[in-house]
Order: sequence, then structure tokens, then C-alpha cells
Amino acid sequence: MTESRNYRLVYGGGDESEIPHVLIVGGGYLGMYTARRLEKKLGPGEARITVVDPNSYMTYQPFLPETAAGSISPRNVVVPLRKVLKRTRVLNGRVIRIDHAGRTVDFEPNLGEPRTISYDYIVMAAGAVSRTLPIPGLAEWGIGIKTVEEAAYLRNHVLEQLNIADSTDDPDLRRKALNFVFVGGGFAGAEAIAELEDLARDATRIYPSISVDDLHFYLIEAADRILPEVGPQVGSKALNQLKLRGIDVRLSTFLESAVDQRIKLSDGAEFDAGTLVWTAGVKPNPVVQASDLPLGPKGHIDTTEFLAVNGVDGAFAGGDNAQVPDGNGGFYPPNAQNAVRQAPVLADNVIAALRGTKPTAYKHENLGAVAGLGMHKGAAQLFGKVKLTGRPAWYAHRSYHLYAVPTLNRKLRVLADWTLAFLLRRDFAGLPEMGEPRQAFEDASRPQVENGQLLRRVS
Ligand SMILES: Cc1cc2nc3c(=O)[nH]c(=O)nc-3n(C[C@H](O)[C@H](O)[C@H](O)COP(=O)(O)OP(=O)(O)OC[C@H]3O[C@@H](n4cnc5c(N)ncnc54)[C@H](O)[C@@H]3O)c2cc1C
Repeated sequence: MTESRNYRLVYGGGDESEIPHVLIVGGGYLGMYTARRLEKKLGPGEARITVVDPNSYMTYQPFLPETAAGSISPRNVVVPLRKVLKRTRVLNGRVIRIDHAGRTVDFEPNLGEPRTISYDYIVMAAGAVSRTLPIPGLAEWGIGIKTVEEAAYLRNHVLEQLNIADSTDDPDLRRKALNFVFVGGGFAGAEAIAELEDLARDATRIYPSISVDDLHFYLIEAADRILPEVGPQVGSKALNQLKLRGIDVRLSTFLESAVDQRIKLSDGAEFDAGTLVWTAGVKPNPVVQASDLPLGPKGHIDTTEFLAVNGVDGAFAGGDNAQVPDGNGGFYPPNAQNAVRQAPVLADNVIAALRGTKPTAYKHENLGAVAGLGMHKGAAQLFGKVKLTGRPAWYAHRSYHLYAVPTLNRKLRVLADWTLAFLLRRDFAGLPEMGEPRQAFEDASRPQVENGQLLRRVS
């Protein structure tokens, strides 16, 4: 069934079937900000806008490490799309195929049968997914930190490992629970290990049998440095900061196996670990391969400096799923800084295509990078000149992200979370069963006592 003509009118007046349809695939940074700009700039009846995303919210990913550490509540790092986008149709589900020649996509709603949606203009904003390698055991035991669910899970999981270690008499199980392995020393990996080590270190206060020296955090990085985003000087200072905290950073080292949670590294080290976090890079969302749009050598959508897809009409792309030329023979790095700034240019170029006017090229000078490495610790490089570490970098990190997180509502909520954590100190309540909320009810629904003894839990 072709659906586009049946949509309720979401933008302006007139006969809906006559109104051009702009379909945005992905409601993250690029998708949400593009839709917002289109809403602001388009006249009544000029176009209908639809955003398709499996989630009903946009995720502010730079706050995920702080979410994993419990400094920010999970729901405060997401922005409900329907609240922000007042004149856009939001459809929750996935685009699973794009036939740009026929100007249709196959849409799979979160529940129900897939259907076809027609469009006049498409904006590809599906972002990236974790880039994994075929390492034995990785898919079974690893976890990424790209989604708010993963961040919330990690917090509960780390606290649960401390509970396990504090409750067992088995020294091997205890050692395993207190071994935490993070693979990838880029932004996400360095921030995640630093925040979670901070959480675990702080939490040892309430565990009588666990001291800070019992915790073993490993950062495994294939390159010979970490945090390339902040430059070699700040990166090496950040590396020293992590080492001084007791984090075992292994450079030029690879994860070789994680079968049954037995970690084997390329430097010969071998040990059991209850936690394996994989942050060794991202790749374009696989939906771009399920399309007839041209792709570059690394699988990104091949895009011009006008954020238009190369060689076709009516298709635009940016953010992590696209390669956008930087005018110097390379491409802009896939980060939030670029996605947010590409959105208004892209939206204006969609409008230029609608109105038959000239598009604008995307140009951006890198502003630098700020990383939070736990409470009062950080690394930052601003405007290529200012280099900060420690507390000043941490203030720069928090100030920038408070400014950048979308909507006043979220800014105030994040500020409230930080203020409460400052006044009341960190909260160590972990809820590991959150991932299996029906477990207690399922247990209650089956026989639980046999031969006068409570049966072991099934899972
Ligand atoms: C832990 C972490 C920390 C980071 N810190 C920083 C930082 O400090 N500074 C910085 O500049 N960048 C940072 N980044 C990178 C930044 O978040 C990304 O570059 C940015 O989100 C890219 O925006 P995007 O719109 O391309 O993709 P996203 O924001 O990821 O949005 C993609 C959207 O597409 C949706 N989608 C996926 N598949 C489909 C489908 N089949 N159909 C429809 N929709 C789909 C997704 O649900 C998602 O909502 C960080 C990333 C992570 C993971």
C-alpha cells in the first residue's frame, strides 16, 4: 500500500496530495535539527515533513558516559521528537529499503506490517552504528555505548559486578567481577571508562569487602595514543591522568578473543572479565546499503559540499551516515559538531530545491573538542590553541554541553541532576533487573519450592 497521499495534513493548508513531501530518515542530531529548521522556514502548504525513527526521541550522545556514571538521569539526555517537532509527522519504526529512483521507502513500524511511503525529497540522517570485528565472543559478551539504553544498562551492570564481588566466597568469581575491559580509546571509550571507573571507585565506599585497589579497569587501544580528537599533547596528558588513577591502558594492543568472558589480548595477557565495552569506532548505518544511493569507499553516502547526494536529484545527506567533502581533499569528521551545523544548511538547501533557488555550500572550522573524564577531570582542546586538562577542562566540557543540549527543558533538568549530585553526592542504587522486568512475575507463576527448598532461578 502506498501511503504518502493518506497522511493527515501536517503543514499548512491546501490539497495534501499536491504538497511536496520531505521524508527524513532518522530523528537524531541531523534529522531533528533539519526538521526544526524546515518547520521554521517553510511557508504554509509548501511541504509536508515526516521524520522516521525507531525511537520517539533524539539522544544527546555526548552525555551517555555521564548517564552511565549516574550523573545524569537517562530520560534527561533524550528529547521527545513529538514535543519539539510540532508540525512534523513522526513515525516510529525503521526504514528498511530506499528506492530513490521510484521515490519510495519501505517502512517497518515498531509494531505492524511494513508499508511503502512515497516522497519527493529524502534526507538521509540515519547516523552510525558500532563497528565491530569478527572477534570470537565479542558479539555474545560485548556491549557498546551508543544508545541511552546501553548507558543505563552499564551503570546497573557495573554496580551489579560490585554486588557480585561483595557477595561471593569464590576468589575467581570475585576477580572476574572486578575486571572491566573497554576496547577503543577514542572519545566514547575514554569518556566511558573514566566515568565508570569514577563511579566504581566512589561506590567502594559502601562495599566493606572491596577497596579501590581491587578494581581493575583495562583500556585496550590499537593505536599508540588515545583521544586523537584533542590532539597529541592533551591526549598524552589525559593518558597520564588515566594511568595515575590506576587504569591499565594498553596501547598498540588488540582484543583477540572474549569467548565465555575469557579475555585474550595481543600482548599475551589472558584473564576473565565480567564487563566488556566495545567502543572501537563506528560505521555508517547499514540502511544506506539497502538503498540505490551512491556510496563512498567506506560505505558512507557520497555527498557534495551542498549536502546533496552526488549525481541524483531530490536526495540530501549529512551527519555520520554521509561523507561530506571539507574542501581540502578530505571529509568532515563524523561528530555532533558537524551534524548540528549541517542541519540548517541542509534544510535551507531542501527549501532551495523546492523553490528553485541556489543552494549554499557547507563550511565549518573545527571548534575543538571537550571530553569529561569523571568528576572534576577532563581534557579539552579549543579553537586549535587552548589546551586544557583536569578541572578547567571538566568545566569547559560541562559548560559546552549544557549550552549544546537541545531545549531549555533538558538544560534545566541536566543542571538539576548535576546540582543534586553535588549536594547529595552520587547515588549507588543499581537496578540490574530493569532489563528483565517480567522476571519476578514469571518466577511467581511457576512452582518455586521442591523437596523443601527454594528452586534456583531459571535465568
Ligand atoms: C558516547 C558518545 C559520545 C560522543 N561525544 C561527542 C562529543 O563530545 N562531541 C561531538 O561532536 N560528537 C560526539 N559524539 C558523536 C555524535 O553523537 C554523533 O556524531 C552524532 O550523533 C551524529 O549525528 P547523526 O544525526 O548523524 O546521527 P544520530 O544522532 O546517531 O541519529 C541517527 C538517528 O537515526 C535513527 N535510525 C537508525 N536507523 C534507522 C532506520 N533504519 N530508519 C530510521 N531511522 C533510523 C537512529 O535511531 C537515530 O535516532 C559522541 C558519540 C557517542 C556515542
